[in-house]
Amino acid sequence: MDQTSIDELRNRDVPPCHHLIDGKARPASSGETMDVVSPIDGSILTTIARGTAADMNAAIGSARAAFDDGRWKNQPPAARKAIMLKWADLVEKHALELAVLGVRDNGTEIAMAFKAEPLSAAGTIRYYAEAIDKVYGEIAPTQQNVLGMIHHEPVGVVGAIIPWNFPLMIGAWKIGPALATGNSLVVKPPETASLTLPRMAELALEAGLPEGVLNVVTGEGAVVGEAMALSMDVDVLAFTGSGATGRRLLEYSARSNLKRVYLELGGKSPHIIFADTADLDQAAKVVAAGIFRNSGQVCVAGSRLLVQQDIHDDFVAAVTKASAAMQPGDPLLLDTKIGAINSENQLKQDLAAVETAVHEGGKLVLGGTRCLEETGGFYMGPTIVDGVKASHSLFQKEVFGPVLAVTSFADEAEAVQLANATDYGLAAGVWTSNLSRAHRMVRAIHAGVVHVNTYGGADVTVPLGGVGQSGNGSDKSLHAFDKYRNLKTAWIQL
Ligand code: NAD
Repeated sequence: MDQTSIDELRNRDVPPCHHLIDGKARPASSGETMDVVSPIDGSILTTIARGTAADMNAAIGSARAAFDDGRWKNQPPAARKAIMLKWADLVEKHALELAVLGVRDNGTEIAMAFKAEPLSAAGTIRYYAEAIDKVYGEIAPTQQNVLGMIHHEPVGVVGAIIPWNFPLMIGAWKIGPALATGNSLVVKPPETASLTLPRMAELALEAGLPEGVLNVVTGEGAVVGEAMALSMDVDVLAFTGSGATGRRLLEYSARSNLKRVYLELGGKSPHIIFADTADLDQAAKVVAAGIFRNSGQVCVAGSRLLVQQDIHDDFVAAVTKASAAMQPGDPLLLDTKIGAINSENQLKQDLAAVETAVHEGGKLVLGGTRCLEETGGFYMGPTIVDGVKASHSLFQKEVFGPVLAVTSFADEAEAVQLANATDYGLAAGVWTSNLSRAHRMVRAIHAGVVHVNTYGGADVTVPLGGVGQSGNGSDKSLHAFDKYRNLKTAWIQL
């Protein structure tokens, strides 16, 4: 990746984005489109199909037909593996094109997007492809006169609903294991970052994935997402997004066919710094990166800094210094530290959260305002609010923007109590040079992932899932297969 190649791609016209149904690009059945506003400068980049319920149902019908006739699930495992590996290669080959298209659509800084989006998606697809011919069924430990066999069967049609922060990475976390287990899919990209998933799905066709196995329908969540979730013909819904939408999906499931619903929701993840941390300067840099990369629009962002009171002043000063060096800039420049906020609406929400935090008694230490307004784009600098109490909204509510809440604690017991004092349980970080304390904290914190002396970067080999109101089920690792397959017992008298 170099700046010249990025600059060549950044000005390319982007054709209107259609659905991908049964292997064909199709406009919305109503003919309607939605404008795609680039957060880089507020310009209209292109349009996407404004899908209808009929479009969604056509895509589900196509996925169902593909599943029922076995064109994918009945292929030999080695053949399916080869197709998915070829797909991963194609995603990698087109990585820069996908990354630049994605950044123009959602505003993430390119250096991060390139790795976190196409390259990560390719790695995920490859990981699950490799597993296809390595995961076995089971024989139960029965008495001698029977044979208890446990078959793993694909569930059928999987609906995947994706958020705007990392559509390719999060999309691949669902598409990879669902395809590897033999299912068909319909994917619903987010309204404000729809362009890359249909393109990645086209590459799957090029790799040899049979038509109809992977469909993509764009449009409004409340229309096409709802139609997917209410469908009687979708067997599993895999969702990443907000808690409010997650709750709706559970209701839709109850009102339709009781489809399994897996929710990966938000977080308010604590990043805890003990005074005995070996390298406090390094910790300060990681705290800043842990909240501010992709402008805080990261589900596992360490958005609550809990710092031991003895080091509070010096440590907050060090984090502030590291954060101030991460000012936003043009997301398509390689040395930009943080890019744009995804949409004007999200920017307004982020600014309002800071206003409320200050009103509730928090002390603004850094940022808190819109910047680079002259570009027409949506930017906000790293923002730090100190003196945040457990009763404050900034402590309890996810912002999903570049805002860090700082709270101090006296001892380990108080650190645990504060860490667990929200409804969420997605991620956490602990910095200490005391090995026993590190292990005690891992056990005591309610979260899907606890980082120790680092933050973020957990790869595809380990699960990511939340507890509490951060969701259920896990993406990544071989455990993700459990979401997309049924267990069937054969009980055979010998
Ligand atoms: P969102 O819930 O608004 O939208 C997510 C998806 O749901 C979009 O594709 C949207 O179109 C769709 N949707 C919206 N309303 C719907 C409805 N009524 N029926 C069906 N689908 C509907 O969330 P967002 O703003 O796109 O994403 C931000 C949220 O996602 C944050 O809360 C963040 O923490 C969370 N997130 C979680 C993870 C994780 O792995 N746990 C990862 C990334 C983001």
